[in-house]
Amino acid sequence: MFRFFENLVDPFSNYQELDNPPNTVRSFLISYTKPFLGIFIITGLVATLAAASEIYLIYLLGWIIDIVSGDPEDVFTKFSNNFIWAVVFILILRPLIFALDVLLINNTLMVNVATLFRWRGHKHVLRQSIGWFENDFAGRIANRVMQTPRSAGEVVFQVFDALGYSLAYIFGGLLLLSSVDFRLMLPMAIWFLLYLVLIAWVIRNISPASKASSDARSSLNGQIVDTYTNIHSVKLFAYQNQELGNAKLAIEKTRQTFAREMRLYTIMDFGMNILNGLLTTSLIGMSLYLWYIGEATAGTIAAAAALAIRLNAMTGWIMWAISSFFRELGVIEEGMGTLADPITLRDQESAKNLKITNARIEVKSLSHHYGLKKGGLNKLSVTFRENEKVGLVGRSGAGKSTLLKLILRFYDVEAGAISIDSQDISKITQDSLHENIGVVQQDSSLLHRSIRENICYGKSDATENQIIAAAKKAHAHDFILNLQDESGRKGYDAHVGERGIKLSGGQRQRITLARVILKNAPILLLDEATSALDSEIENQIQDTLKNMMNGKTVIAIAHRLSTIAQMDRILVLDNGKIVEDGDHQSLLSKEGLYSELWHHQSGGFLKSK
Ligand code: ADP
Repeated sequence: MFRFFENLVDPFSNYQELDNPPNTVRSFLISYTKPFLGIFIITGLVATLAAASEIYLIYLLGWIIDIVSGDPEDVFTKFSNNFIWAVVFILILRPLIFALDVLLINNTLMVNVATLFRWRGHKHVLRQSIGWFENDFAGRIANRVMQTPRSAGEVVFQVFDALGYSLAYIFGGLLLLSSVDFRLMLPMAIWFLLYLVLIAWVIRNISPASKASSDARSSLNGQIVDTYTNIHSVKLFAYQNQELGNAKLAIEKTRQTFAREMRLYTIMDFGMNILNGLLTTSLIGMSLYLWYIGEATAGTIAAAAALAIRLNAMTGWIMWAISSFFRELGVIEEGMGTLADPITLRDQESAKNLKITNARIEVKSLSHHYGLKKGGLNKLSVTFRENEKVGLVGRSGAGKSTLLKLILRFYDVEAGAISIDSQDISKITQDSLHENIGVVQQDSSLLHRSIRENICYGKSDATENQIIAAAKKAHAHDFILNLQDESGRKGYDAHVGERGIKLSGGQRQRITLARVILKNAPILLLDEATSALDSEIENQIQDTLKNMMNGKTVIAIAHRLSTIAQMDRILVLDNGKIVEDGDHQSLLSKEGLYSELWHHQSGGFLKSK
């Protein structure tokens, strides 16, 4: 039975992925919850039925009081059928209605709404470019992908569990009272209006207050995470007390904003209790009056009292539901900054796959300043010919990484163009571009999976022999065989720990090299590939790199003599421009920036001034 309700909606069903998702909370929620429309309608109806059955209970109470005030003989003779019906209703029908209500809300909606948001949110985020990820914190993105769906589930829950149900209940109550005498309805109608005013006040004040307190919490969270992440610096610079001082300020700010929020809740509680007191006295008073002038029965007084007491209990719940509803809407609004951020870098509709013939890369008047006025690259033109091994040299901030990132299309270029074998990279599919480029980065982190999976990442059909051959070429095979993780998995099956933290920098580097060797792409981009290796391993790896580069077009950011020595041509970048272009000897004899950098070098490194 549970499975039936859990499977009423498929959260993974197909849908049209949008590059520009709706940008208001309302349209965002409507667009994502479309698959639930049918269930929403049914749940709304069932919640109304549930509320009606509660009102009916109160009606039954009044009815019993009325008949027991009559002739006792009649109670079990004249009304026996009514009693049987009442018992059937209370024991069977009412529990069934409530069971259906709770199954739809808990098992269909709660389970699937958050799942659908999470799945679609994650899918959307994964479509974003690397540049987009570079401009945000992975932690914050992940937090929003996890948090926003939970809040969406909560919003839907509150709408159907508390708000829909209680509205139906209040209208049912008004109807019940007016069916006896419309004068009886007046106190409740006035109470309802005043209650709405209180709710409006709460909404207006609690939303900003809870946003302020949630902002304070987020920044406190950021500050604490930052301290833990940089614990090395904190300890080594003996900065613990200063950090504590800063944290205390942030914790105090969180306390103050939270205190302000809680004051509002307390005022809200006062207001509610006063209104509830008014409702109880006026409703019972009015029914007593009507009874006194002979226009209402004892049953009416009992029903009115029961209704007032029940509403008393419900109002706190409704207020809580409303404030939580608006709080969660706030979380969704914040999360939309990530989950509904337009996808700006995408494949053109007519995008074809890149076809490599020579792996010749042409860069024409390329400018890219990351949306700013300076930095990045400035009108840079260069051609990387077939099979050419080119080293990029320059001070830090010269634009070397930017050039590599743009060739990989992490960002769309602001001006100019890059083409590979005469195909503009903005007009081919991103997947085919990345399939044809092997990248070795300086800070190579691994996925928290087995060594084998890490090596054949991107080439899942690789055979065991190919994997081992690649690992051998990267001088990784021997140390891999000696690995064992804490679960006892050994060798290629051993897991590497988050971001590969359990391996040394050199070991991680060699595994990423094996991955790139296995990928065997015609273009290679190296960001000082050997930086994490000790000199003995580096010597061995140099041969591997040489072999790897064979027959490929290679662009390498180089700081070290050993890397530069292997290059056919060196480009010297400065301020986003190429200032020198030639081989090692000719550049040295020019006595320009290259020779200056060169003479500053010590121990095989180029100093970055
Ligand atoms: P290099 O790799 O030569 O050290 P980069 O290509 O990383 O230099 O940086 C070149 C210039 O572009 C620098 O001035 C840097 O501040 C700027 N830059 C790099 N990345 C970004 C970014 N994501 N947003 C804004 N500016 C950036």
